[in-house]
Amino acid sequence: MSERTKRTVIMAKEVGFCFGVKRAINLTRQALAEHNNVFILGDLVHNKRVTDELEGKGLRKIEDYEDEKTGTMVIRAHGLPKTRIQEARSRGIDVVDATCPIVLRAQEAAQTLERDGYQVVIIGDKNHAEIKGILGALENPALVVDNIQELHEAKRSYKLLRKVGVIFQTTHALELCNSIVNEMLMMCKEIRIINTICRPVQNRQDDAIELAGKVDLMLVVGSRTSANTMELAALCRYHNPNTVHVQNADELPVETFAHCRIVGIASGLSTPEDLVEAVRVKVLTADMEPVSAA
Ligand code: SF4
Repeated sequence: MSERTKRTVIMAKEVGFCFGVKRAINLTRQALAEHNNVFILGDLVHNKRVTDELEGKGLRKIEDYEDEKTGTMVIRAHGLPKTRIQEARSRGIDVVDATCPIVLRAQEAAQTLERDGYQVVIIGDKNHAEIKGILGALENPALVVDNIQELHEAKRSYKLLRKVGVIFQTTHALELCNSIVNEMLMMCKEIRIINTICRPVQNRQDDAIELAGKVDLMLVVGSRTSANTMELAALCRYHNPNTVHVQNADELPVETFAHCRIVGIASGLSTPEDLVEAVRVKVLTADMEPVSAA
């Protein structure tokens, strides 16, 4: 004889947009309501649903502002090098600066370290827009490393100095940053660290790791172009190999988790809350394998 059991879904404490993303979306909506010609370098957030909505209201995505002579340019939450902002303004372009205040603080931390005579070392992805913005806030080139191999390479090629000031990409996992800093301790004489990791990111990561350890299946919802979602999924997978990253409810591999009784759900910081809710509902209503009773 068999009987049906209920599936339990445990949501992470916080899902949906972080405050920096919410602020950037609101500033962009406001700019679209007040101005005719509004454009942005790249995507405002790594989520197609949101970018489609804003483009539907008239937001133009551009690769460069070389051809723009007027109009309003929105700066994304990741920020932009200050020389580029100045250059846009000098061309007569209005700027709506939606750089997240936490990213601005990371830029200021790098400037403080540089002013105090440290070689600035950023632990982060050199191709990420936020890191380009931080580099652009400095007078001198900084060293960017994202793993221990890159650190050793910098040491071998004499690019790593003895007195270094370290900051972190705001969305990076503390565990990864720790391992690189530990290695650096053996290579440098003086290290000053300013912790620029975003608190909402860290809270979500800690919470998701704890949740992943308690469930049969861990779902992480968010775009595959979102660095923080990819990192969150990797962290959860490390703590629970049965972790699946989905962009929306349509991607849920329902047939593969019919046996899972307790499911955890977390989301990236640029994932709209209703996408997460749709995943929750689908998980709850998907069929479960009946449990055999004696
Ligand atoms: S993740 Fe943190 S730093 Fe990035 S936009 Fe959100 S609040 Fe700002």
